[in-house]
Amino acid sequence: MDQSAGDHRFEEGGSTVSGVLYMASSEHQRLLDEAYTTFSSSNPMHADIFPAARRMEVEVVRMTASILGGGPLGEPGVCGAMTSGGTESILTAVKASRDHAAATRGVTRPELLVAVSAHAAFFKAAEYFGMRLVRLPVGPDGRLLGRTVARRITRDTALVVASAPGFPHGVVDDVEGIAAAARRRGVLCHVDCCLGGFVLPFAARLGYPVPRFDFGVPGVTSISVDTHKFGQGHKGTSVVLYRDAGLRRFQYTSITDWTGGLYISPGFAGSRSGAVIATAWASLVRLGEDGFLRATAAIMEVATRFKDAVRDMPDLEVIGEPAASVVAFKARRNSKIDVYQVNDLMSQRGWHLNALQQPAALHICFTAAHTGPHLVEKLIKDLKECVRKVAANPAAKVEGGMAPMYGTAAAMPDRSVVGRFLVAYQDLLLDSA
Ligand SMILES: *Cc1c(COP(=O)(O)O)cnc(C)c1O
Repeated sequence: MDQSAGDHRFEEGGSTVSGVLYMASSEHQRLLDEAYTTFSSSNPMHADIFPAARRMEVEVVRMTASILGGGPLGEPGVCGAMTSGGTESILTAVKASRDHAAATRGVTRPELLVAVSAHAAFFKAAEYFGMRLVRLPVGPDGRLLGRTVARRITRDTALVVASAPGFPHGVVDDVEGIAAAARRRGVLCHVDCCLGGFVLPFAARLGYPVPRFDFGVPGVTSISVDTHKFGQGHKGTSVVLYRDAGLRRFQYTSITDWTGGLYISPGFAGSRSGAVIATAWASLVRLGEDGFLRATAAIMEVATRFKDAVRDMPDLEVIGEPAASVVAFKARRNSKIDVYQVNDLMSQRGWHLNALQQPAALHICFTAAHTGPHLVEKLIKDLKECVRKVAANPAAKVEGGMAPMYGTAAAMPDRSVVGRFLVAYQDLLLDSA
C-alpha cells in the first residue's frame, strides 16, 4: 500500500505552496536522502559510539554562526547547539533566559517581551515555562520598535525578542533599538532568525537593503535559525546560537545523583537522530556560500517581482517593507474585497497561501522551490483574476472554503470559543485515520 499517495509531490522550481518546501532541486534532496541512510542508526547522545554525528553538529553550528556575525570573522565567543526545529530552538533560548535571570538577578516571576507578530513558539514557551508573556504592539509597517520595548522592560524581564523577519509579514523588527534597550537594562535579547537566517545575510551581500540583525549588533545575546527551512535540510533540525558559552550553559541539565549514572544533556531531547544532523551538514556543505548566494538571488528576484505586482493592484496593499522572502498583503482601506475569499479562489487554482489575522491578510513565503520559469507570473495572474472575481461578486462563497471560518473567528470577541474549536480540530487530527 502506498501511504504517500495523497501527499504533495515535489516539483523542481514549481511549488504552489507558501513556505513548506525549501529545496531547489531533486538532486539536492537525493543527496540528503543518502546522508540520512548512511547515518540512520546514529545518535549523538552516545558521542563515544557515534563520533561523526557529534562532529557534524559542531560543524553545522560553526557554519551557521559564521554567517550570523560569529566565528573567526565576527564575535569569537558565539557558540550553540542543534535542536529538532525552530520551535525547539526558541523554547531552548527562552528556558536558558529564564534560568539566567533567576541565577544572575534573582528573578522569580520572569517576563517574556514579544511583539504580537512574534512566532507562536514564544507563546508556547511562556506557557511551558511559567513565564508572563507581555505582547507588544507593532507599528503600521509591522515592525516592533526599540522604544516600545524600552518602556516595558521591568526588573522581572528575562528576555526581549526581535524577529528577523517575523513570520506573518516578513518584516525585520528594529533589532538595533530593541537590543540596545535590553542591554541598557542588563536583559537578554533573542533574535528569531528561524526564517531569515539563511536568507538575510546573503540578501545583504547581494545589495538588498537589510537592516542589521545579527551578533554584530551589540546586545543581541541569542539567535534561532532553521537549517530545515532556508538551510534546505530535511525537516528535524535547527540551530540555537548564543553570544558566549556562559549563556549556553543555562540550557543544559546536569544530574549528579541519578542511579542511572552521571548525566549531562544539552537540551530537551535525550536520544536524538544523527541522521537529520547529517542531512543538515550535507545541505550546508553542498550549497556552500555560492549555493546560498545563488538561491537567495533567485528567491529575492521572484519575491521582488511579486511585491511590485501587488503594489500595482488597486485592491491590495503590501504590508510594511518585506526584507526577505515573505510578502504579506491585505485589502486596501477603500477596497471592499475579503482577502479570505481571494484565498479560497486561489486554493481552487492549486495555490496554498497562508491566511493571517488581525488584520485580515494573506502571505506567501517564497523559497528556492518557487524559482522555476514563469511560476511567479502565473501566481500574479491568478491573484489578479481572483481579486477581480471577488470584487465583482463579494457575496459569492467558495464551497468548502475557509473564508466563513476566518470571518466567524474574527467576529468572535470571546476567544475561548475559538480556542475550543481549535482543540476539537486537533483531537480530530490525532484520532481520525
Ligand atoms: C518557522 C518559524 C519558526 C518555528 O519553526 P518550526 O521549525 O516550525 O518549529 C519560528 N519563527 C519563525 C519566524 C518561523 O518562520
